[in-house]
Amino acid sequence: MRYLVFGGAGFLGSHLVESLEGEITVVDDLSTVKYIELPPNVKLIKERVESFKTDEKFDYVIHLAARPSPDDYVQHPVETALANSIGTYNALEIARRSDAIFFFTSSSEIYGHADVIPTPEDYWGKVNPTGVRSCYDESKRFSESLIMAYYREYGLDVRIQRPFNVYGPRLREDGSYGRVVSRFIAQALRNEDLTVYGDGNQTRAFLYVSDWVEATKRMLEPRKDLKGVVLNVGSDKETRIIDLANLIIRLTGSRSKIRFLPPRPDDPPRRAADVTRAKQLLNWEPRVNLEEGLKRTIEWFKVRL
Ligand code: UDP
Repeated sequence: MRYLVFGGAGFLGSHLVESLEGEITVVDDLSTVKYIELPPNVKLIKERVESFKTDEKFDYVIHLAARPSPDDYVQHPVETALANSIGTYNALEIARRSDAIFFFTSSSEIYGHADVIPTPEDYWGKVNPTGVRSCYDESKRFSESLIMAYYREYGLDVRIQRPFNVYGPRLREDGSYGRVVSRFIAQALRNEDLTVYGDGNQTRAFLYVSDWVEATKRMLEPRKDLKGVVLNVGSDKETRIIDLANLIIRLTGSRSKIRFLPPRPDDPPRRAADVTRAKQLLNWEPRVNLEEGLKRTIEWFKVRL
């Protein structure tokens, strides 16, 4: 199998690529990558996904390239929006020429401030179209729309995934790139204050990366009934951010305290995945609970920080 993976050097991409067998070409501008760990057989092309050109044919075109950290993407809104629009268009055209299976990681962000928690795939979303997060969530929504247009007009075999807060080794912890799990782990291991935005009552449901890889591999199977599918991949177990902070302090045995910072603009107050559809279609469910996943992630960071 020949795979073209946009964003294959990043957190999700590197874990996926490790588990694929075949000829793998990764296109990644490395803009958000800190821990580059790619198998030696992978061909890495350092380029932006919007401008990458090729005449080669592929069996799979996989588009994972994105700047998913809110603190980061609000500082790079144009690059963020273009990777999820022109980048998606470019990937779709390559897939169309190859008659490849096209796979896209959309995002739980497309649901915005959802009124239905856990959120099923048929919830339409509640998003601020011009807010600071719109460069990410609206461009992911546009990508989904364009992908479905290719499916309807050209019959392309497309699969859309909406991942929910995946975490694990290689998730960046530093600066504005840090997502909540990796940032809290790094702060705890350094005995620094854990920075909680707002009152910490906002929730997320976290999925360990090996569970994400398993679901993704199943979504890539050459099954005709997966053509045009849209699937949540995440957990339905909501955790308050303040509880996550305290759990990480306990698991690391840290002396850290919690410091409350002003809330983030447009921060969704609650988020969890309804994964009924993925369970049925993929015969999949998360196996690694939060405490176990955090322990594995903490072990990985201990030797790197
Ligand atoms: N968060 C926090 N402190 C941090 C980073 C994040 O309290 O240093 C909170 C943030 O307000 C959000 C949740 O953790 O409610 C998840 O944030 P993350 O950046 O991981 O991504 P999001 O799920 O918002 O896309």
